[in-house]
Amino acid sequence: MRKAATIVAALSLSMGLSLSLGKANSIKSTMPPSIPWAAADVNDSDEFFQSAINSRAHARDYSQKIEALLKQMTVEEKVGQMTQLTLEMIVSGHDQTVEIDPAKLQKAITKYGVGSILNCYNQALTPGKWQDLISKIQTAAKSTRLGIPVIYGIDSIHGANYVQGATLFPQEIGMAATWNPELMKRGAEISAMETRAVGIPWSFSPVLDIGRQPLWPRFWETFGEDPYLAKVMGVAFVRGMEGSDLASTDHVAVSLKHYIGYSLPLNGRDRTSAWIPERYLREFFLPTFEAGVRAGARTVMVNSGDINGVPAHVNHHVLNDILRKELGFEGFVVSDWADIKRLVRDWRVAADEKEATRMAIMAGVDMSMVPTDYSFSDHLVALVREGKVPQSRIDEAARRILRVKFELGLFDDAMPKPALKSRIGLATSREVSLQAAQESITLLKNANDLLPLAKNRKVLVTGPTADSLISLNNAWSYVWQGSEASLYPPDRLTIRGAIESKVGAANVTYVPGTRISRRANRPSNSTPTNIEEEVDIPAAVTASRDVDVVVLCLGEGSYTETPGSIADLTLGEPQLKLAEALQATGKPLVLVLVEGRPRIINRIVATAGAILMAYNPGNEGGQAIADVLFGDVNPSGKLPFSYPRAVNALITYDHRAFETEGEHAAIKPQFEFGFGLSYTNFTYSDLRLAKQTISNGEDLPVSVKVSNTGRRGGQEVVQLYVTDLVASISPAGKRLKRFAKISLQPGEERSLNFKLRGEDLSFIGIDNKPVVELGEFEVTIGGLKSRFALK
Ligand code: BGC
Repeated sequence: MRKAATIVAALSLSMGLSLSLGKANSIKSTMPPSIPWAAADVNDSDEFFQSAINSRAHARDYSQKIEALLKQMTVEEKVGQMTQLTLEMIVSGHDQTVEIDPAKLQKAITKYGVGSILNCYNQALTPGKWQDLISKIQTAAKSTRLGIPVIYGIDSIHGANYVQGATLFPQEIGMAATWNPELMKRGAEISAMETRAVGIPWSFSPVLDIGRQPLWPRFWETFGEDPYLAKVMGVAFVRGMEGSDLASTDHVAVSLKHYIGYSLPLNGRDRTSAWIPERYLREFFLPTFEAGVRAGARTVMVNSGDINGVPAHVNHHVLNDILRKELGFEGFVVSDWADIKRLVRDWRVAADEKEATRMAIMAGVDMSMVPTDYSFSDHLVALVREGKVPQSRIDEAARRILRVKFELGLFDDAMPKPALKSRIGLATSREVSLQAAQESITLLKNANDLLPLAKNRKVLVTGPTADSLISLNNAWSYVWQGSEASLYPPDRLTIRGAIESKVGAANVTYVPGTRISRRANRPSNSTPTNIEEEVDIPAAVTASRDVDVVVLCLGEGSYTETPGSIADLTLGEPQLKLAEALQATGKPLVLVLVEGRPRIINRIVATAGAILMAYNPGNEGGQAIADVLFGDVNPSGKLPFSYPRAVNALITYDHRAFETEGEHAAIKPQFEFGFGLSYTNFTYSDLRLAKQTISNGEDLPVSVKVSNTGRRGGQEVVQLYVTDLVASISPAGKRLKRFAKISLQPGEERSLNFKLRGEDLSFIGIDNKPVVELGEFEVTIGGLKSRFALK
């Protein structure tokens, strides 16, 4: 049995682990993961959140410099600043042969004065190649009339995923499952450092959409279904990336995306319509963005879809009334990919691109991700000349963009630093990624303590995700769709490889069983999508006869955006067939789910001995899964979403209480939000409210005791829910208001002290404003309940 984690102070985490890089390049944990934020002075999610917001950097005032610059700028130069083109527009060659094309560069930077370039051209580049490209772009920018630097932006979604050799972390859904915001912050610091090391100062992350529609192909890019958990993790992400000094070589500006309502397409398909009444928009989708703005985020990216028929890119209400006036956002707003063009082509709210440009700019878009032509600049310059877009609006947008460039220190020095390349992919960074993967893995079932497995077992490893770094990482990994096996580091362990290193290759039989491959179907030139096929199910069944246990790895391939849209949430039929064939043998079976959204598995749950949810745990995920399977790590992840039981039974945990009771029981989720087992037992006692009655605005201290009554050390996520028993808007059965991740040794007990504040009892009322109503409330922690009255 492993020793229990000791409680250590925040941020000593990478040092708090003693790890060594083994020959097979696996990371061997010699100590259990530490709990970085369980120090006595940071008890819970609320203290983390408040201190994160308060640590927001106070921006220097660059207004004099900006106004002096604006005075010298022509309309074309201001519009140039508002233009963002993709890298493809200034290079020739492909993949690793990509080189700056001097004529194209001249056109973009010198002629059009383009203010921003984005993305990689097809695939991740080496740090040296990135530095070379960025140097050439910034040299060209410096030699323009006013020498305004370019702000290069990239999707560093789970690490600097377009930089070869960078550290890749679990995707956001997995980070949410750790319920450990300090770990999220540390991961974001590393992502920022590795992004900035190649000379890129801006990342299009975090995704602050709320994952309440599991069909949506970007579900896994979110922190799950709950606005409170997502807002705490989101603030951790923002603070980790932006740090206390944006101009330092360690940090980058973030882009909160996709503002707002992108994640709830009614039909589940990417970039389609959402129906969200403003009250729900504010209750569920705004809190993360509000928190991100309070945490200091410098940029916001707009939702590619529409809400109630109004595409977000022309929605003055959300982009101005809410984002600017209510939230006080002072940075700049960037469109998403080609979304001004899509106002004409798809949404049809404008007859032509020029009108679409006017509408988007007047609604509040400051920078257009055009990204593959010069139409935006041409149209906008013409609109200003014709008086259809006021000069003041162009000044405002250019001012906001220039301010971020000043804050990033780009005017002082925008050139990449060759020495910083050595910061990419450090062993200490990999350790953080491993810890995050270990803490994310969520044990959903463990009948008769099938897990952990003894290391002398003979194991059949099978299933389409068993031997794939693609499934472990999902999209935004080396290429947009994450689908190029050859680009993954060859020394990272798949689940199969990691199990072999635990029990010895001689004790492992591997049979794929089924396969997930990518193929373009209709139309034939479309981006390929995932196709599932049987490979050798009978061979897997035969192989199971000679082993002690079957580890069946199911789930999904890689996907995001439109290529990941599906019409059925059920797990692929070939996989279910493989599972049922193996279950019929009667061999103990452990199901490992490597998937970005909860695919329906109700046919195979009852007969699976154990079920592990791994999400998309990143490049260290294979090792982390094996660590949990064989008991080197005691699982502590908790589901950040409700795992549905049936395709037509989609429901979030914060539904009205009656909706899963009595005659509605069929809609109960397969596994509940916040659920996750451990190899030890935690017992809750002594839930105490400091008062039974409080007045409006008064704090309510709440305490509870948790003890480890099992036989091994472990981590527990203590979750505090509040129920408003009667309210003018039909209240949720419960809402998450606080959480704390703690570490307890066998026999150890700890008291936790939470403090609920007035705002924790509020909801968005009938007039779309927060309201607190007097009456009775119930607090629930670990199955214990206690009531109080607000009088
Ligand atoms: C995605 C964004 C991303 C952008 C740039 C878009 O298609 O929706 O999330 O930041 O591309 O790659």
